[in-house]
Amino acid sequence: MLTVVVPVYNESGNIKELFHQVCRELASEKFELIFVNDGSTDHSLEVIKEMAALDSRVRFVSLSRNFGHQSALRAGLEHAKGDAIISMDADMQHPPNIMPKLIAKWREGNEIVYTTRQDSQDSGLLKRLLSRFFYTFASKISGIKLEPGTADFRLIDAKILSVLNNFKESNLFYRGIIPWIGFKKVAVPYQADARFSGKSKYSLIRMFRLALVGLSFHSVRPLYVAVALGLMMCFFSLLYAGYAVYMHFVMKDTVSGWTSLVILHTFLGGVQLVVLGFVGHYIGQISENIKARPNYIVAEKNF
Ligand code: UDP
Ligand code: MG
Repeated sequence: MLTVVVPVYNESGNIKELFHQVCRELASEKFELIFVNDGSTDHSLEVIKEMAALDSRVRFVSLSRNFGHQSALRAGLEHAKGDAIISMDADMQHPPNIMPKLIAKWREGNEIVYTTRQDSQDSGLLKRLLSRFFYTFASKISGIKLEPGTADFRLIDAKILSVLNNFKESNLFYRGIIPWIGFKKVAVPYQADARFSGKSKYSLIRMFRLALVGLSFHSVRPLYVAVALGLMMCFFSLLYAGYAVYMHFVMKDTVSGWTSLVILHTFLGGVQLVVLGFVGHYIGQISENIKARPNYIVAEKNF
């Protein structure tokens, strides 16, 4: 059996059409479709209940308020019962017609089949540029390769799901954790369509918030920048000290007090940065431990 997980926030104009398309694409499969109503204020929940009454494959989880896309996704994943789970948006920007391809790739033995968006006529130039910038920047900082155009449109094996469900940290950033956990994965490119109905729920502010979550998600590395900078500064300070001493004793060309001030100033700056980096390191350790992430993930065992 397959599970399709769809977070829904005010998508009353989309969900019926989405269900039709999913039924068409998965005609030969046994599946359940879980709508996660993320505190919609329109008629989404009524529409979902209507569909669920008519078709037992439609299931729903309705959250008590709007928790945001990632939390809604998590709620859906934690309720999924399928052997493979496909997560996708409700607005048809994640085209259901590539689902058979995702499933085929899974049956070939891939445990994660993720998608990469090639182009979107819908999102504006600014949104596309920002998204591109974020993926490049976040990849550099985190050391985890975030491919541009990867959203939460992917198929995962039930095995991956149980791994994901073990991550109890708050603000789980699926796009970052999926490349991090490893396993056998493959990408499927797709052309994004325009939104079927309604408008985007991701304002620039919401995108920025998600980006911050994404950056702090693997954030121990930026803390080391302070150590590196501090050591560099100490090094240059020593060079500069040589210069200052030379100017003072050989050229006798300095204002009185300048030499000692300059040496103290640059050296202390370096020492402070190094110390700050060490303090940062401990904070990093604390944040790692609070997350209580598994240190390793077993893919297979023979006992
Ligand atoms: N969504 C949600 N909760 C929110 C915001 C969005 O469940 O607080 C859902 C939304 O209904 C859609 C998906 O997340 O199914 C992606 O949102 P949207 O299409 O607005 O984002 P965009 O494609 O514009 O980035
Ligand atoms: Mg969308």
